[in-house]
Amino acid sequence: MAKLKAMVIHAHFDDYEFCASGIFELWKRQLGDDFQGRVIICTDGKAGHQFRTRDETGAMRLAEMEASAKIGGFEFKSLRLRDGNIPREACLECTTEFMAALWKEVRDFEPDYLFCPPMITDPYVGIHNDHVKVAEGVRRIAYMINVPHAYTPEYPADETNSPLCKVPVILNCYDSYMKSANDLDVFVDVTEAFDKMVEMSYCHQSQIVEWLPWVASPGILHPPKDLDEWREILRERFYKRDAAFGLDTAKQHEVFTLTAWGTVPNIKDVSRDFPNLTCNEAALAQAIAAWSNEAV
Ligand SMILES: [Zn+2]
Repeated sequence: MAKLKAMVIHAHFDDYEFCASGIFELWKRQLGDDFQGRVIICTDGKAGHQFRTRDETGAMRLAEMEASAKIGGFEFKSLRLRDGNIPREACLECTTEFMAALWKEVRDFEPDYLFCPPMITDPYVGIHNDHVKVAEGVRRIAYMINVPHAYTPEYPADETNSPLCKVPVILNCYDSYMKSANDLDVFVDVTEAFDKMVEMSYCHQSQIVEWLPWVASPGILHPPKDLDEWREILRERFYKRDAAFGLDTAKQHEVFTLTAWGTVPNIKDVSRDFPNLTCNEAALAQAIAAWSNEAV
């Protein structure tokens, strides 16, 4: 059994590559078979395009994700509701069915660390509906992970014999839609994984070459001609973000926020488990101490 299990739950095909593929790659390299990662994608990928049909777009996005997973050697699944349907891109809602499906995925995998998008606290920043609903869904099911009957109407189980379920430490990923409202406290130097991240993300051709330049996604204004040009575009994107957070811009970092949605993190565990970590340990320790206080 793997010694460290991590899960990413995100909205779209490509979010993993832009948010957390670096740390997964580092874990894979350092831990080998002792690391198990799983990526859950919560929408069907049919909405974001300007000249392909919905069905063509969805099929292409899935094929691109499969190509990326082959390069990255990671496991991914589309989230299916109990009726077998994958939620519609752009229209995600935090329904009971959606939360039940999230709950089932987390309980089935029992990750140590779970990564998802952040909740929005600033009403003036822009959002992507699907990112916000995934964040809300994960937060709302976090306590329910160890409430075995919460969704047995959807996923029947023996209600008289419920095993305890591991509850992960939950982290939020950086969200480019929120811009300055990101409040990040954990930085991971992923420079050594950067080339692999470039290759994985470049698989998403229908996004990088077609859709994202058209919709002028942050940092992707011109379609790259080839992998080398894409590497430079991505490097520039990391450069700007690293500079904004006062990080070494000669390197590339993934950035996360620890939460107390699930298991309250322990700074020693995080320091031990997260490769190439930079954080303000004193500030984190203070936040964690506050989360750990019993209610009075
Ligand atoms: Zn997305």
